[in-house]
Order: sequence, then structure tokens, then C-alpha cells
Amino acid sequence: MAFDIDMIKGVYASMGERVDKARELVGKPLTLAEKILYSHLWDGTPTNKFTRGKDYVDFAPDRVACQDATAQMALLQFMHAGKPKVAVPTTVHCDHLIQAKVGAEADLKRANQTSNEVFDFLESVSNKYGIGFWKPGAGIIHQVVLENYAFPGGMMIGTDSHTVNAGGLGMVAIGVGGADAVDVMSGMAWELKFPKLIGVKLKGKLSGWTAPKDVILKVADILTVKGGTGAIIEYFGEGATSMSCTGKGTICNMGAEVGATTSTFGYDESMDRYLRATNRADVADAALEVKEHLTADPEVYANPEQYFDEVIEIDLDVLEPHLNGPFTPDLATPISKMGEAAKANDWPLNVEVGLIGSCTNSSYEDISRAASLAKQVADKHLKTKSQFTITPGSEQVRYTIERDGFIDTFNNIGATVFANACGPCIGMWDRYGDKASDGPRNTIVHSFNRNFAKRADGNPNTLAFVGSPELVTAIAIAGRLDFNPMTDKLLNEDGEEVMLDEPRGYELPPEGFAVEDAGYIAPKEDGSSVEVKVAPDSERLQLLAPFEPIKPESLKGMKLLIKAFGKCTTDHISMAGPWLRFRGHLDNIANNTLIGAVNAFNKKTNFVKNQLTGEYGGVPDTQREYKKAGIKTLVVGDHNYGEGSSREHAAMQPRHLGVAAVLVKSFARIHETNLKKQGMLALTFANENDYDLIQEDDTFNFLDIDQFAPDKPLTIEVVHADGSKDTIIANHSYNNAQIAWFKEGSALNLIKKENA
Ligand code: SF4
Repeated sequence: MAFDIDMIKGVYASMGERVDKARELVGKPLTLAEKILYSHLWDGTPTNKFTRGKDYVDFAPDRVACQDATAQMALLQFMHAGKPKVAVPTTVHCDHLIQAKVGAEADLKRANQTSNEVFDFLESVSNKYGIGFWKPGAGIIHQVVLENYAFPGGMMIGTDSHTVNAGGLGMVAIGVGGADAVDVMSGMAWELKFPKLIGVKLKGKLSGWTAPKDVILKVADILTVKGGTGAIIEYFGEGATSMSCTGKGTICNMGAEVGATTSTFGYDESMDRYLRATNRADVADAALEVKEHLTADPEVYANPEQYFDEVIEIDLDVLEPHLNGPFTPDLATPISKMGEAAKANDWPLNVEVGLIGSCTNSSYEDISRAASLAKQVADKHLKTKSQFTITPGSEQVRYTIERDGFIDTFNNIGATVFANACGPCIGMWDRYGDKASDGPRNTIVHSFNRNFAKRADGNPNTLAFVGSPELVTAIAIAGRLDFNPMTDKLLNEDGEEVMLDEPRGYELPPEGFAVEDAGYIAPKEDGSSVEVKVAPDSERLQLLAPFEPIKPESLKGMKLLIKAFGKCTTDHISMAGPWLRFRGHLDNIANNTLIGAVNAFNKKTNFVKNQLTGEYGGVPDTQREYKKAGIKTLVVGDHNYGEGSSREHAAMQPRHLGVAAVLVKSFARIHETNLKKQGMLALTFANENDYDLIQEDDTFNFLDIDQFAPDKPLTIEVVHADGSKDTIIANHSYNNAQIAWFKEGSALNLIKKENA
């Protein structure tokens, strides 16, 4: 599984010169984020100063990581790029396609039967093109990356929004769509708008019941799901350096929940300890030699207001444990106020299930602290009131916590240990069998990162609250959402009132990490003879055909497909859960396109007017009718359209079905880029109130698409059913290269042309 120490040393060797040059160009001391960005420019040593939030910059990431759900489409695309091998170290991780039902062993066996076609495809493509393959059960992408590949000062991209987790080890790690990964795997530059910078000063130190998770739950409260958009969040201060490396990973992981491009921490001793504990002493030694480049210049943290676009300060000495939710990760409630909040909102107090683990919170420290609470159940003659599950993040963590007795401790409170995979975090939790949509109103608490409706179990009536693993464990023991372990007593089996002692754990395993089979398969040195098989009648995999460019004349007489009301995440555009099985088959997965989006005209999901017949039907079926009639369509949306994940399916599916443009109040960054990559028009209302002008029977005419150019808004004529007209100005953020993608039909079409 060898990480590439020579590659890392190469990055460090050029870092000093590049950082010095950047400091000179910028004309002031540099933040860590700037040092990493400026030392990863595609053109090498910096020659320009970039304007944050404005300039598009070409970068050269050090690594790529893909998870199984997104890797399918990414690798299907890469196969068309005409390259014999990936250009940068790349790994594929099988973690999303494993359903959690009864427990690790049986669940993994079932996944290997039901998804073997996909796993075999991914393994063979990996083998052919020089990609490291982590088989099902090896672990969740971000935990495996943190344990094996992340390194201070590095830059990586991954086809998953929580790639940002690697910021815990001082990287700039960014979640992208598969199309971006294809660029980098093909040896091309990766383009990003130079981010703004948010500094978060952590005063004081964590103690008692408060955990790193509470830091990010508080940040989400302050910034909301949109507040980090287009920015890198850089944490510093005593609270940062006194925290474990894996705790930093948790904080960076959930930076995705505030929309941040990524989050990072400066190099410190916790990272050194973690690197050595995970058998990477040579990386730690190399990092020590350049450590001044792996954190901000000292002036920055002394006077952060002068160097960051925004500064937040959180005092860890007074930070309380929080629960965030339901239905959005930024609705924060300190545990002492939960009783009041639950009553005011009529949230069910009875907690059905507590779930810990996932890529966000399954470090040795998390598990050992949670286990210290589980152990008290027997010691204090308690009985656990809620169901309880653990999802380890990697086989290395699972093996080590089993060796150290924690799995036994959890088993003693009736826990279910799921496979080292995403499972309940991504709707792959068979909690109700086929009846998820009729499931009762109920409350669960988990230590994952997302809690959108249906995210965990497919039940829209499940209220999911996000908290630290230790708080989730305490609440599961008590069985009540309003249980405050710092003040509340529990009645034990002997009728006595007892309190839980504060959680205690270990930052790293005292006996070291251990594992028998980590689950890694190295690729062949020369994979040219490896055959990649995709059955022509496969339901799961479909070789891709290139998208035809959208002709300017087809942008006249367009129809409205749907005007989405309120939140429209990538889950609403391309649902996960049972649909994950079709991630490698574009036409089949297109049958879920926008079925979760709420139609602004009737507030129903998957129920839109077909302007050709006047009848109402499902979104994909209606769109297929327009496609058959040769009519392009437009999707209208609200703020932060496409937030949630990096899946390019949310762009490819509408594109495949014939949607030409998406016009919204604002976009989530990754989704906007994905639409551009697929050769579509991603537009924003110049005047947000124009959203209200759009009617159900509207026809759209793009008046000046022939003059499509950077910084020049487009004009759209909206013709209403009564013949009246409005003119809408649509802004866009396309640069010249992105306009070329539109003209060629997709970014991939352009890559192929350039490789020909
Ligand atoms: Fe898997 Fe959930 Fe982590 Fe995504 S956030 S990688 S679904 S565990």
C-alpha cells in the first residue's frame, strides 16, 4: 500500500523556494493554506499573486482518491481519456456499496455477492491503470487515506465531499466530481477558484465531555451550511495544537457541512505522533525538516484579522457538547438546552438508535472514549435503553479495537458492529426493509456528519441528531435526547441514581496499531494486458458515449422541467440509498433524476407538469418525453443548489436526459463545476427575485448565447403561457477554458481531442 515517500520528499524539496517566492509576490506573511496552494501550482514556482475568491488557478495535486460509488463513473470516463496509466498516485476504496443490516461478516458477504460485478470492474480497471485498490471491508476512504496517504503540506483531491478529512494531517484535500479526478489522473491541471480564507482561533483546551466534534458543530452553528462556501478554513491556537490529529480530522471532515472548499491545521506534534503510530516515521522525519513551511508564518496567527478574510474565535474552555439537527447539520443545540428545544419543536425524546463511527468519528481515540462509557453500563448496573451500532472506519482500527477489548465492551451493551464501510451514513442501512418510506416518526443520534432527511435509513420521518461519539454513547445508554450527562442522573437496575463518569480514552493505541489483512491490492507494474470487462447487458455498468455539444439553436423554445423549491442537494438531484447500485450505469440511474426535489408549484416531489401534454408525471419520465420530442429543458433552483456531495451524476443525469441549463439563486461549488464539466450551462439569477417570475408553463429563449464570454451575463427571454414576456439576466462564472468545455460538449471531449 506504500505511500510514495519519494513523491512526498519531492514536494518538500521545492516547497521552500515556492513559499519564499509566494511571500514576495503576496507581499506579506502567508497562511498555511496559501503556502500549500502556492507550492502546488501547475506551472511550478509562482509568478503571480492571485486574488482570493476571484482568480481561477491551475493546480497540480499530489494524489487522487476515489470511492466505489463515484469511482465507477470516474474510471469509465478515464478509460476514454486514452492514457495507459494514471499520472498521479491514485487509490480506489470500496466502502459505499456495503449495506448495513445484521453485522459486519454477513453484510460484507452479501455485498460481495450483490456488487461483485462492480467490485470486479473497479479492481480490474485499477490493476490495468496503476491504481491502488482497497477491497470491500478494508475501510472508509477518508480513514484509510488519513492512515496511509495524507501528509502535511500535501494537496489531494478525492471524488467524495469528505476528502477534506485529510486536513487533519495538514493537507489541502478537496472533494471534487469524477470529471475533475479524470483531469488529474490524465495528467492535466486541476482548476480551482483561488479560495478565500477563514481563520478559526481555538482558545483554551478541550476537556471532560467536550470533543473535537463539538468544535465543528459550533462552527456549523456560526457559519451555517453556506458560510464556508468558496473558502479554506484554517484552524490555529492552543486548542488546535493540544488536540489529537484524528480529532483535527473530524473537524476538517465536517467542514464540508459548512460548504468550505476544505479545512486544514498547521503541522504540530500530534501529527508527528500520528504519522509515527501509523508506520510513517520517514514522512514524519521529512516533514520535520521543512516544518516552518507546514504552518503559517508566525505573524499570521498573532494578528489573524490582517491575513484572513474572516476570523472566528471559539473558547474551548467553555464550549459545551452539542447536538446538531434534525435535518440540517447547522442547527446546533448545546446539550444543556436540548430539553427545552425538543419540547418547543416537538422532537421525540425517545432515542431509538445511537450510531457511532463512520469516516468522521472512528479513530482509536473516539472509540476508546465511547468504550469507557459503555464499560460503565456493567460497572454501574445500568441497562442501555437504545439500540447501539458501531461502524469502524478501517480494518486497522477495527482489528486494533478488537484486540484491545473495546468490541467486547460494546457487545456487552448489545451493540451491532457493522462492516468497515459507510453503511448507515449513506442510506445503506436496511433498518426497515422495504418500508423505509412509511417508517414512523422517530429520533436517532449519530456521530456521522450529515443528517438530511432520509440520509441514514431512507425514512423521511427519522429525526437524526449529530453529536460526538461519547455524547451519542451516553444518550444511547440513557435512551433520551434530552439527557445531559454532565448534570443528569440515571436510575440503575438496583433502583439507585448514578451518574456517568466523564469519558476517558487514548489518543493512540498504547500497544500500537495492528492489522492482519488491511485489504489493499497493489496494481500490476504493467497493466497493458489486463482486460476490463463490462457486460453489454449489465444493469450496473454501462460504457459511456460522448455527449453531443448543446447547439445554440436548441436554446430557443426550451421548456421548464422543474422549479425546485427550497433545499435541493445532490441527494435530491440524484438520490443515494438503493440507487447507489446504478452509479456505473448512466441511463439506469437517470431514472432517479431530481425525484427528491420539491416542485415549487405544488410542493410535491417527483410530480411536474409536462407542457407537451398538460399532464403531471415523474420528473425523469417527463424529461424523457421532452428528449423524445427534441426539446431542451431548464431547471430552476433556490440557494446553494447542489450542496451535499461531489457526485457528478447530479450533473451527468440531467445532461444525459436533455436538460441544457440550470438557473439558480446560488450554487454549491462542486456541483457548479460538475455542470460545467458536462458541457451544460450553470447560471445564477442576477436578480434573485426573478426566481419568482418563473411560471409552470414557461418557455425560455437564450438571446445572446452566441456571445457567451467570461464576465458577460447571458440574457434569457421568458415567455409565459398567456404570451407575456419577462427578460432575465443570468450571471455565470465560466472562464475561457470552461466555455470551451461547453462548446465541445464536455470537458472530457476536450481532453480526448487534446490527447488525440
Ligand atoms: Fe462514507 Fe459517510 Fe464518510 Fe461519506 S461521510 S465517506 S458516506 S462514512
